[in-house]
Amino acid sequence: MVPTFRYAGEKVVVMGLGKSGLSAAASLRASGADVAVWDDQPASLAQGTAKGYRAFDGAAPMTGVRAVVWSPGIPHTYPQPHALATKARAQNIQLACDVDLLLEAQPDASVIGITGTNGKSTTTALIAHVFASAGRKAAAGGNIGIPALDLEPLGIGGTYILELSSYQLELVPHLACETAVLLNITADHLDRHGGMDGYIAAKRRIFSYQRPPRVAIIGIDDAPCAALYEALRRDGLHTVWPISAKKVAPGGFYVDNGNLIDATGPQPVIILDLTAVARLPGTHNWQNAAAAAAAARASGILHEAIAAGIRTFPGLKHRQELVQTVGNVSFINDTKATNADAAEKALACYHNIYWIAGGRPKEGGIKSLAPLFPRIRHAFLIGEAADDFADTLDGHVPAALYDDMETAIEEAGEMAIKDHLPGATVLLSPACASFDMFKNFEERGDRFRAEVLRLWPQKEKSQ
Ligand code: ADP
Repeated sequence: MVPTFRYAGEKVVVMGLGKSGLSAAASLRASGADVAVWDDQPASLAQGTAKGYRAFDGAAPMTGVRAVVWSPGIPHTYPQPHALATKARAQNIQLACDVDLLLEAQPDASVIGITGTNGKSTTTALIAHVFASAGRKAAAGGNIGIPALDLEPLGIGGTYILELSSYQLELVPHLACETAVLLNITADHLDRHGGMDGYIAAKRRIFSYQRPPRVAIIGIDDAPCAALYEALRRDGLHTVWPISAKKVAPGGFYVDNGNLIDATGPQPVIILDLTAVARLPGTHNWQNAAAAAAAARASGILHEAIAAGIRTFPGLKHRQELVQTVGNVSFINDTKATNADAAEKALACYHNIYWIAGGRPKEGGIKSLAPLFPRIRHAFLIGEAADDFADTLDGHVPAALYDDMETAIEEAGEMAIKDHLPGATVLLSPACASFDMFKNFEERGDRFRAEVLRLWPQKEKSQ
């Protein structure tokens, strides 16, 4: 745990008692702060009071409150500010999230920040893996699911590798990254940022107040990021390295024919062949690898060590995670693909796909995936979206509907094993939210893994 001694003896309110709120409350209390907590959900508030925290009295004035630790998921500006945010701001109390308390408490450690619409967690984990395999003192946290204040104090010579959502970027006044990474921008969460301009502005904050060497790493494969790249270069305040998975990026890092290339020096240098890295399939992951290599290089890690780190990356759970191989059939858990855009990335990586999809539908359904339908041998549809998906697939892909995921897994696996097609893949990539049948996407992925390993546990069985 990182202590937050700056608040010893001070009154602090922690708003929102999810994982990061509870972690912040624990650090503040252990550091001697007078902590009051609040959550609009009675069950969450009860969790806090059961741990001995005082419930914040919303009717009382906020006199003497030094800080409000704000959970980034709770609206504080758009579409409607929460009443507590309005009240705090009226008293000139700044809202900040748990990541900001870490940055304030650990000013001597270096910081690499990572943001973007997609690929943040993969890139954050990959950078952390490259640092660890190069023997560097580093810790990854933030939006990746590890609360910032649960990390270890690193001090001088240490590096925090922080995944930052657009919500968090609005709540980190102490952010000053040595290296900042913006992967990509596509329309998302627009209601919370008052539109696309607000969303881009939130992402751009990652480059504000950077500390030397002020390396800004930015994807140039989409229009909003390409425009930001040009703007940063014109400003002349940063060392700006473009990254691309699709084209040559002079002066930056890019992927050509699967080769990851560093073009920041006098001659382009091939770092490694990404087609040989099974845990980073698809060009989307090449963008993540290019960004991770750039961030590692900015911290002085040599090409050989970067290549070794990328090669040994174990991958992240729930994102095209290889669960089991039975003969020539791979079982892949991509439960994190909660919309068609994300599912498209996985479908583009395989041929002869036995596709398990469905759940709570997202707008637009799976019509945008039509160019990939020829790769799908059979669809196994579950959840509220099943009927609609079956209509879209009709005439293109044979499909069947299931009441539960377990039966869909069993039938998909048996069909794939029987068909014996080259490179066959049973792919859970639902293109839907999970909440109609599961607590969250993690539970859906854990159930998929457990069922596959229950049905095909043994190596003997798989041959
Ligand atoms: P995030 O943390 O931003 O949600 P993840 O690394 O968890 O991103 O990846 C989530 C999903 O997004 C993956 O399963 C994949 O489908 C897709 N994805 C990953 N990286 C990228 C990328 N660079 N560009 C576009 N999509 C990506």
